[in-house]
Amino acid sequence: MTRNIKVAIAGVGKIARDQHLPAIAGNNGYTLVACASRNAQVDGCRNYRTIEELLASEPELDAVSLCAPPQVRFAQAQAALKAGKHVMLEKPPGASVTEISLLSALAREQGVTLFASWHSRHAPGVEPARVWLSDKTVTSVQVRWKEDVRRWHPGQHWIWEPGGLGVFDPGINALSIVTRILPQAFFLTSAELLVPSNLQNPIAANLVFQDAKGAPVRAEFDWRHGPVEQWEIEVETDRGTVHLAQGGKVLTIAGATLDVGPEREYPGLYAHFHDLITRGASDVDVSPLQHVADAMLLGGRTLVEAFVE
Ligand code: NAP
Repeated sequence: MTRNIKVAIAGVGKIARDQHLPAIAGNNGYTLVACASRNAQVDGCRNYRTIEELLASEPELDAVSLCAPPQVRFAQAQAALKAGKHVMLEKPPGASVTEISLLSALAREQGVTLFASWHSRHAPGVEPARVWLSDKTVTSVQVRWKEDVRRWHPGQHWIWEPGGLGVFDPGINALSIVTRILPQAFFLTSAELLVPSNLQNPIAANLVFQDAKGAPVRAEFDWRHGPVEQWEIEVETDRGTVHLAQGGKVLTIAGATLDVGPEREYPGLYAHFHDLITRGASDVDVSPLQHVADAMLLGGRTLVEAFVE
């Protein structure tokens, strides 16, 4: 019989409402018992203003899914882990790379699951792309991840503040796919960060990496794009080209488009979290965040036109 996990959400904003609540409702392995959000309430469960109130009032809770911006992720995760709860982190898993290792150690000490989720890895084309690429020699990779920030982040000031990642907030989704599907590790060699003159974080970035065998991996991230998103990854190999489009929903290999089934990113995340809890395991891969940190370390900054929403 499937174990029923009593779960709560902390930070009820755009992604909690668009994806987490429907994914939990659609999985009979979970019951949503409560939410913690300073300004929002969710019908059909108990509501608290802070995660501390939630944890103090819900001793029977098994797990917490953290959906607030990354700048508050560590404090919320630490509180939930200390209370003995399994924890799922929205992407990015934190505001710094190092804080995640402290959370991993705490989860081990407490004997609970920590899942640093990367929703784009559950796009239906990603796993078949990874399997196909596993025995090929990659000769070059081109990533184009472009969208309109006004459409996808309306009124979200935190993305422009330190820790909010700017255009790397969506760009890290592309990096989460590339780090998953390429058979070789890769590292950043140079980056250009285009930063609005009135803000802290880049609105666009051009990155150059190389893989362990010297193949170039290039990425263009841009938030000043028109109404049709471009979320594409092209991997050239010795035996044909892999093309992932629409964020990983559409997979073409050597010119043939494969039937990869329906979109299932967040149902996939919650199925994986359930499996990790059941097996007593954790899944924490910081490599996409590490690449962003490297871009912030190595990237040259060019000031561009001020951004006003
Ligand atoms: P959002 O709409 O701004 O919602 C996050 C919610 O967290 C806010 O509504 C707010 O609720 C709470 N919050 C904000 N600042 C807080 C603070 N300082 N302390 C405590 N709670 C705070 O943002 P979002 O788009 O849902 O993004 C949240 C996370 O999901 C980000 O890491 C993002 O990268 C990820 N994500 C977003 C999308 C997307 O399409 N937007 C897609 C995938 C993943 P209260 O005011 O009620 O506390």
